Amino acid sequence: MSSTPLSQPGKVWLVGAGPGDPDLLTLRAARLIMRASLIVHDGLVDPAILAMAPPSARMISVAKHRARHTMQQGEINALLVREALAGREVIRLKGGDPFIFGRGGEEAEACRAAGVPVEVVPGISAAIGAAAAAQMPLTHRNAASVVSFVAGQCKGLSDQNWAGLAGVGRTLVIYMGVATAEAIAEKLIADGLSPEMPVAVVENATRPAMRVLRASLAGLPDLVATAKVKSPAIIIIGEVCAAPELETLRALALEAQA
Ligand code: SAH
Repeated sequence: MSSTPLSQPGKVWLVGAGPGDPDLLTLRAARLIMRASLIVHDGLVDPAILAMAPPSARMISVAKHRARHTMQQGEINALLVREALAGREVIRLKGGDPFIFGRGGEEAEACRAAGVPVEVVPGISAAIGAAAAAQMPLTHRNAASVVSFVAGQCKGLSDQNWAGLAGVGRTLVIYMGVATAEAIAEKLIADGLSPEMPVAVVENATRPAMRVLRASLAGLPDLVATAKVKSPAIIIIGEVCAAPELETLRALALEAQA
């Protein structure tokens, strides 16, 4: 027989904080943050968003770094479950959307396994925020009818099969790909993609320090190195990255018709 818990379980909210700009939070996320008593957050969550929490809220950072994991995923899961089983309402705040490369799925599973109620609040994922801020449509009737999101970190890069995800008429968005930009460019070119395919790198999308950098696929490694691109940054590969040029071509075509 299982022992009776001391109190009713609380709840875990897996909340997407969007790409940075606090104005891009959902109303539900903003309401939850503003009345939170406990927030467990990633390093990617913008300080301006954390500042929306009441001064009395307990803030626990579980920031991850590529080389240094401050808290293993298992420990994070255990923390969420422990706090909720003690009757607390936990706001688990994540950059972007909790279910896009955010390990939200693992945290939701851990909660369900422990009998902790869990609810998910979607957020604007980095790809969507970057595309809007840089005015680069991920799909375009003239340029792309397929869009794929992939994770570009070292682990697993060589096992991934990206054939068919990039090329003419397709947009490929790479999360966590700055450190492996060179390997990514080499792999895609080896897979048959044109070295001339347009590429954009959006660093700090939707934040005051946002930079939008453009190159060809072959020029991507150089661009990342010379511009000293830092995380968080997203790489977009496809004709949609050449949108201003497309606009120019269209304008010229219209002029020629006139
Ligand atoms: N759950 C998040 C992604 C987490 S993975 C989401 O839905 O957006 C972390 C990666 O997201 C970073 O390495 C970077 O590639 C991307 N990223 C997150 N915020 C970003 C931002 N403001 N600008 C550019 N890229 C961002």
